[in-house]
Amino acid sequence: MLAHEAMMEGAAVADCLAGETVDIEENLIPAVVFTDPEIATVGPSPAEAEEAGISTVVGRFPLSANGRALSLGDDEGFVRLVAEADSHQLIGAAVVGSEASELISAPTIAIEQGLTVAEFADPIRAHPTLSEAMKESAEDTFAIPTHWRGS
Ligand SMILES: Cc1cc2nc3c(=O)[nH]c(=O)nc-3n(C[C@H](O)[C@H](O)[C@H](O)COP(=O)(O)OP(=O)(O)OC[C@H]3O[C@@H](n4cnc5c(N)ncnc54)[C@H](O)[C@@H]3O)c2cc1C
Repeated sequence: MLAHEAMMEGAAVADCLAGETVDIEENLIPAVVFTDPEIATVGPSPAEAEEAGISTVVGRFPLSANGRALSLGDDEGFVRLVAEADSHQLIGAAVVGSEASELISAPTIAIEQGLTVAEFADPIRAHPTLSEAMKESAEDTFAIPTHWRGS
């Protein structure tokens, strides 16, 4: 169903034919719906994680509290991050809103690298950018985000 998955699988087949070990992380394939607003996800939703027996903490941040979204006049949507409850390791993300298809890359890399939500929140994002919503969504799992009262 996804072109980037097909490309990765094509490369994996080539690697297999060359005798290399291939390890595809099937649950780490981002998916985007190019609607208006865009919808992008990677990893499990909170419900899917709970169904798989994983206890979660969930961080949210509305784009209506993000300066860049407001200045673009496009503040519909949110960021939602899912982390494993004990380790606080990031396992899933969803973005609804402007540039969701671009924003989903950062949590995809963070999940692949095994980062906790605190590690993901730590780097400074430029202001005003949509990326700040990602940072503040991560903060929502363990603190009160700077620009929102928190969920
Ligand atoms: C309208 C549309 C929009 C899409 N939009 C997106 C999108 O925005 N983002 C996204 O990620 N994915 C999108 N997709 C899905 C994406 O295109 C597919 O997931 C991807 O192309 C699958 O790649 P594939 O290599 O598995 O198959 P394909 O790209 O279908 O390639 C299969 C190839 O095999 C050939 N073939 C078939 N049978 C034979 C045969 N018997 N002998 C020789 N050759 C044969 C076909 O001609 C074709 O060239 C879209 C698909 C469609 C139809």
